[in-house]
Amino acid sequence: MIPISRRDLLKFAGLTAVGTVLSGNKNVEAAQPAPAQKFNFNGANIPTLLRVDVCVCGGGPAGTAAAVTAARNGASVVLVEQGTVLGGLQTQGLVYPAMPTRIHDSDTPYITDLNKRFSMHGFDVNFVNDPQYKNGGDAREYMPELLAFIYDELCADYKVNVLYNATLIGANTSGGKITSAVIHTVEGLSKMEANIFIDATGDATLSRLAGVPSVRGSETTGRNQKMSFRFEMGGVEEMKVYKFFVKKLKDGWCESKPPEFEFAKTTHTEKFYYEGIQRGEVTKDDIAYIQAFTILGKPGTMSMNCPEVSPYLYSSTNALDRSKAIRECRIMTRRLANFFKKNIPGFKKAYISREASMLGVRESWRIHGKYYMTKDDYFNAQKFPDAVCRSAYPIDIHDEVLDVHRTLAKGEFYEIPYRALVTNEFSNLLVVGRCISSDFPAQAAVRIQPTCMSMGEAAGIAAAYGLKNNIAVNVIDWASIPNRSYVSAG
Ligand SMILES: Cc1cc2nc3c(=O)[nH]c(=O)nc-3n(C[C@H](O)[C@H](O)[C@H](O)COP(=O)(O)OP(=O)(O)OC[C@H]3O[C@@H](n4cnc5c(N)ncnc54)[C@H](O)[C@@H]3O)c2cc1C
Repeated sequence: MIPISRRDLLKFAGLTAVGTVLSGNKNVEAAQPAPAQKFNFNGANIPTLLRVDVCVCGGGPAGTAAAVTAARNGASVVLVEQGTVLGGLQTQGLVYPAMPTRIHDSDTPYITDLNKRFSMHGFDVNFVNDPQYKNGGDAREYMPELLAFIYDELCADYKVNVLYNATLIGANTSGGKITSAVIHTVEGLSKMEANIFIDATGDATLSRLAGVPSVRGSETTGRNQKMSFRFEMGGVEEMKVYKFFVKKLKDGWCESKPPEFEFAKTTHTEKFYYEGIQRGEVTKDDIAYIQAFTILGKPGTMSMNCPEVSPYLYSSTNALDRSKAIRECRIMTRRLANFFKKNIPGFKKAYISREASMLGVRESWRIHGKYYMTKDDYFNAQKFPDAVCRSAYPIDIHDEVLDVHRTLAKGEFYEIPYRALVTNEFSNLLVVGRCISSDFPAQAAVRIQPTCMSMGEAAGIAAAYGLKNNIAVNVIDWASIPNRSYVSAG
């Protein structure tokens, strides 16, 4: 994410160079086609582990919202997650905090419910409380460990069958439907049979395995966005850190007061980091992007939105690159941690307390669904009759050349149509989260956590509605659903 000051979420435009201007929209078709990975297990003798109404693959913010909402609306649901925690990048990737939609009334009921649960555990996630927004708009702080607990709690309350340590590896299809998802668990291979499938893997894995057309990377460069591998440091004396940046380096970035503040590499602090290169303590790559947040509920700990690796060297759609990036980032993390300890008062006794268990992939594959969202939809602040949510978060592309941050005029927002969550190929498939049907720049706006959660919620509602009314999810008229989570402003 763009480093965004907690006090002044609007001023980030000046932080990093706004580079290459986005090119015209004529080359949607030039987006890098992703080779089909279709592999059919039809006919193989694989036992069925569960038979449910809805099978959600991927338990990130989008998938968890989809599973909980479908179950809440009466469907029997299984949530297949390869890790041991729900939340995806929020928890495994240590991606903290949730970015602001920067428009009021963007919260859908699932988000309101989630925030209430945090309050019940004694945490007010609205650390900004900007009066210009109500019911959404501000950044939120979801402490990863508490979020993991609350997600489990939500799934238990609504009787979602959560299957941890289960990896989706194949899709069986027949007559324009996905009939089962093939997964690998400790028992070996098994099938999940369901009426409706929701792809929330972030990488469009279920869709690609089933044969849905997908694209990857930028239409102009072919590159994916930069990846990061986040970490946390404990033993931090926050007041000393705060004073160093504000008083010594005269950086206005962390204007907000402890206990909640952040520091970043800004025009004011650049010299401080570059001197570290001259002393041989860090490399240019290590400090390419620096941002650190205090964590609500974890005093003495800071969350690092770095290191970031070059998209020229490491692609998020190359399996070997993803592994090499993790190893490289781990080395960079050590150097950064030592640099902080040596040079930032308040970090003297600090230590790496946690590293991500999931690589920070901002963008990889995106499906080509019934509606393909483009940057023009973003810049035109497009409204849709079948809109499922709204946001005004900027187009936020992390790239070395194509470093683009574009915003809408104040008060403007765009919407996401339901049709961007469904495909022409499969009547019983919904796709949610960062891999929905969109071009590279549009994806860079829709990918933030609140928007992913709202999309997941919409998919859960549509799945339950389709089941009850015997309507295929890829032809559902979202606007006709009585209890839908969002009504278009258009
Ligand atoms: C470094 C970084 C910083 C970011 N900063 C912010 C920020 O500050 N604020 C913000 O709002 N957003 C931020 N984002 C974006 C946001 O976190 C993601 O876009 C969002 O989490 C995407 O949600 P998702 O549910 O689509 O996918 P993910 O969060 O990626 O979740 C996908 C889930 O699917 C599971 N999965 C994948 N494949 C399989 C499989 N084959 N079988 C079973 N399970 C599978 C994964 O384990 C994971 O749990 C950031 C992203 C990155 C990478």
